[in-house]
Amino acid sequence: MSNFAKSEMEVPPTFMSLPVRSIYVHVPFCEHRCGYCDFSIIANRAELIPRYLKALQKELKTSPFLHSHLLEVDTLYIGGGTPTLLSACELEEFFSILSDYFSLVPDAEYTIEANPDGLTADKIQVLKSAGVNRVSLGVQAFDDSRLIQLERTHSVHQTEIAIELIQQNFKNYSLDLIFAIPGQTLEEWQQMLLKAISFHPPHISSYALTYEKGTRFWSDRNKGKFQSTDDQLEVEMYLKTISELTNAGYDHYEISNFAKAGSQSRHNNIYWSGRPYLAFGPGAASFVNGQRHSNHRSSFTWMNRLEQNQSPIVSTDDLTAEERARELLAIGLRRRQGINLDDLKNATGIDIAACCETEINDLIEKGWIQRQFSHLRITSAGLLFADEIASILV
Ligand code: SF4
Repeated sequence: MSNFAKSEMEVPPTFMSLPVRSIYVHVPFCEHRCGYCDFSIIANRAELIPRYLKALQKELKTSPFLHSHLLEVDTLYIGGGTPTLLSACELEEFFSILSDYFSLVPDAEYTIEANPDGLTADKIQVLKSAGVNRVSLGVQAFDDSRLIQLERTHSVHQTEIAIELIQQNFKNYSLDLIFAIPGQTLEEWQQMLLKAISFHPPHISSYALTYEKGTRFWSDRNKGKFQSTDDQLEVEMYLKTISELTNAGYDHYEISNFAKAGSQSRHNNIYWSGRPYLAFGPGAASFVNGQRHSNHRSSFTWMNRLEQNQSPIVSTDDLTAEERARELLAIGLRRRQGINLDDLKNATGIDIAACCETEINDLIEKGWIQRQFSHLRITSAGLLFADEIASILV
């Protein structure tokens, strides 16, 4: 018996030709732009929500990938932005628009991202009526001074109330955390993890703070206004994350994601396994029929284009079979279960083991990945170099 664990989601051999069964919808509104955020968002312009809803309706109506009948889906993911910034009434309209195009199978996973300060009891009722059964809560830190530093708009107290509300209404939810905040110590991060674990969430995502070009944190750091966390400390924090969460019974199933049994994110597993999906809203990118179609990143341009009867899609990448196979290998290695090279060959027609022989051997020699027969997986040492592994392979 191989010691490579069988996953909750195996890579099917013919996934390139599978019909779309997963949908992402981007809601771009936020109360304010956090200093580290480079997502496609509109800050403090809630008055634009009705215009967004009209544009979304038009995008769905005119999508070349949707047909007159309802599309049956296994996973639907509402991300942002802060989808729960919409009022209860606006959320009702939003879900009603989606229900004209998508029907959920009985055991579908229906996720919405939420921030603690926007989640109220009346909105929760709207989510439940619409069939939402999973909430991904942007906690980020259990310390008010760190939340202020990250420029989040909520407090720890609001987070605690939001978690209680979620627990009363949903079995499945996830907490998002950020580590390597400037000035944060290893002990402080450990306390943060223990606090998160104390709520027994089925799923936890944990990301190091990053400095994307163009964000204010990026320019402030470059101007010397503060120093980012030392690399060695960041590694120690990541290793602490793995040890604390696995000790608490979480399966470390992807570089940054941890789940109790049966609680992996099914939607994200669709991305990581290379299955097709459709995405709507500003900046959203679909992957279907071997092509990636990306909407305009600016919410204003996305709305303008739809209002002027133009397609919101501004780029279509026709990936060659080899490019797609390389991409799938890189993405697949992010999952701890790894990737089966025979499955990948069946799916793409590309013998990736031959194509990437030099790169694969080099990564094995570095100790970052290991091979057992036709199965590749990332090693514990390789977890620290996931981005480098991807850039070598793609
Ligand atoms: S709440 Fe999230 S999406 Fe909105 S600005 Fe902050 S980091 Fe970006």
